[in-house]
Amino acid sequence: MSKKKTFQNGFKFVHATSESSIPISCIYLVINFGSIHLPTHLLGASHFIEHMCFKGTTTSTVNIPARYERMGAFFNAYSTERCTYFVLKCNDNNVMEALSLLAEQLFLSSFDVNEMKTEREVVINENRNYEDDPSHMLDLKTQSIIYQDTPFELPVDSLEYHKKGKGWTRKTVYDLYKKYYQPFHMMCSVSSKLPFSKWIGMLEKTLFCKQATNKVVGETDFKTMFPLFIRQQIHRGPLFSVITLPHKNEMETALFNISFKTCSQYEFKDKYKLHFLSHILGNTQISRLFKLLRVDHGLVYNVSVSVNNNEFGGEFRIQTQCAVKDYLQVYMFIMKEIFQTLRNGAKIKGEDIKTLKSYFRHHMQMDIFATCDTKTMHNGFNLLLYDDDDDDDDYKNDVVEYNDIYDRYMKNLTKGDMDDIVAKYLTVERMVVACCIGNVHSSKRKIEKLLYDKTFTFVK
Ligand SMILES: [Zn+2]
Repeated sequence: MSKKKTFQNGFKFVHATSESSIPISCIYLVINFGSIHLPTHLLGASHFIEHMCFKGTTTSTVNIPARYERMGAFFNAYSTERCTYFVLKCNDNNVMEALSLLAEQLFLSSFDVNEMKTEREVVINENRNYEDDPSHMLDLKTQSIIYQDTPFELPVDSLEYHKKGKGWTRKTVYDLYKKYYQPFHMMCSVSSKLPFSKWIGMLEKTLFCKQATNKVVGETDFKTMFPLFIRQQIHRGPLFSVITLPHKNEMETALFNISFKTCSQYEFKDKYKLHFLSHILGNTQISRLFKLLRVDHGLVYNVSVSVNNNEFGGEFRIQTQCAVKDYLQVYMFIMKEIFQTLRNGAKIKGEDIKTLKSYFRHHMQMDIFATCDTKTMHNGFNLLLYDDDDDDDDYKNDVVEYNDIYDRYMKNLTKGDMDDIVAKYLTVERMVVACCIGNVHSSKRKIEKLLYDKTFTFVK
């Protein structure tokens, strides 16, 4: 059972006792600030600010990553559309020192003009690396269609944002930092052997608790920003589309993202059912598509299926990669599995559900005992964003900490639940196919037409 506390200035803290025997604390500092909060002319700035938090503070010029490395700590940070994360893992003896340093980064970064120039180039190079990767570009394309007309349709960062670059002055970027990097936008989630009371004592000595909150500058409640969108079902009828992306180099493989629009973050039951279904189809050696495509036919190396949800909707995504010459065969196998086998014929078996439950129970425990990452991130993200104090939130009781997910949402799942979820979400209307097919001498339009036609040989 975790313990929670909200400090006077609005800073939130959630503590889970680590069940590991090693004296390492895992810390996820989550900030309620992502690319969705940015005006068009400042897109990319949330990611850039995350970078600038490692470039020096007003109190010290000592290299920040080096200070963590001297403690032997692991540190990382990343930016998503929804949030910014700072991750720390360190020995229990160094927690106080690491926490103080992290707080300085988040409240006292100096944003030196010359450092900003250099770091801008670093970020541009990071984008170059990503944009040379066809699977990344395919993911962005899929995201833009699935979340069309919502703040989630645009990527966190892209080369395009930096080409324009207008509006990016030291002042505009620094003002954003001051507006969003405030205690009441933050949640510190930890898994640690150090007790809750010890953490409270340590946090009280840092800026996380001492820093005053300036609500006038920082008032950015998500619900007031996007009132019309919240909790609206974004699926608006037929959508089915096929897109092929151009490839930059000669590629040996064809890449597929076969996605279905699903439900919002708030549909707790469906969300976890979809998560369960994702493992019936892919990700494990015993999953249906893995067995079909790899074990039985040797056509692919891997099939992964992932689920994501946000305030506006969600996605169920099947991803695979195969030889260019096999792309049509692989596509047809997947279509047949979804639209004939799953929807009409031999559906998911009770035995599959039983096996997968045991898999989930043990895998979730493995994270609790080993890295703690999924657990600490889940607790930080969900409790920061969705477990607020509004009484009108009828979903509040549905937000559960990581350790309770299995018992609450998975333990009692039945074969009937899975059949229902397939019937509800894996429909052709909700489907978006994005592919990047390497060295093939057909035009983009021809491939799209072909895939379209093949799909409808299975959809009745
Ligand atoms: Zn970065």
